[in-house]
Amino acid sequence: MRKIMVAGNWKMHGSMSMVETLLGGVIDGLDDTMPVDVAVFPPAPYLPQVQAMANGSRVAWGGQTLNPNEQGAYTGEVSGAMLVDFGCRYVLVGHSERRTLFGESDADVAERFEAAQRDGLVPVLCIGETQAQREAGETEAVVAAQIDAVLDRCGIAAFDQALVAYEPVWAIGTGLTATPEQAQDVHAFIRDKLSALDGRIGGQIRILYGGSVKSSNAADLFARDDIDGALVGGASLTAGDFLGICRGA
Ligand code: 13P
Repeated sequence: MRKIMVAGNWKMHGSMSMVETLLGGVIDGLDDTMPVDVAVFPPAPYLPQVQAMANGSRVAWGGQTLNPNEQGAYTGEVSGAMLVDFGCRYVLVGHSERRTLFGESDADVAERFEAAQRDGLVPVLCIGETQAQREAGETEAVVAAQIDAVLDRCGIAAFDQALVAYEPVWAIGTGLTATPEQAQDVHAFIRDKLSALDGRIGGQIRILYGGSVKSSNAADLFARDDIDGALVGGASLTAGDFLGICRGA
């Protein structure tokens, strides 16, 4: 039985006072009976604050990206070991904004996935098609290629300690959520693909959905067989909205 996970990707939002209010509200509002794992992905400068506040709580945290090198002359970058230093358990790799705005290719994403595990982090592999790709009937081919890049580099065993987040690019920040059926279809495709290589790993890996998740659509999404939670952007920036999504579990 896979436990639902609700993860908040704060992207480049926040301030110390906002983190105080937002994370404080989430920690206080989580009810022990909610059957959900919770994680937040703050901008890197707020990791010490998040660590201090969330340590010992039910909320885990992670980085939004990492540089695959262990150290060196990479101005502006953050390594996996640095994230671990601040208590991160997870790191997002291959978010569509990293792919489109910062030019990360499938191969770059695979390198980051491998580096995350080397450094002791659990990668959350973000994949998904654009609107044009969906309209051209390429959704499965696109997500398959994004997964294959990681499989080619790391092998199926690496998916034992990883999550996948299916985030159709056309649904991110647009208010256009994939219908539960559309999301379920792609999630089942992803799970079948991994299960064909290793049934146990395919059966246990959590596949989150991301793209305009809100409290009003979370429960419908989570009710589907292969949707194991959500990676939430906009609605993760308000404690009440985020907790509402957690209640959908
Ligand atoms: P929104 O929830 O704002 O659509 O963002 C989704 C996302 O990109 C999470 O990583």
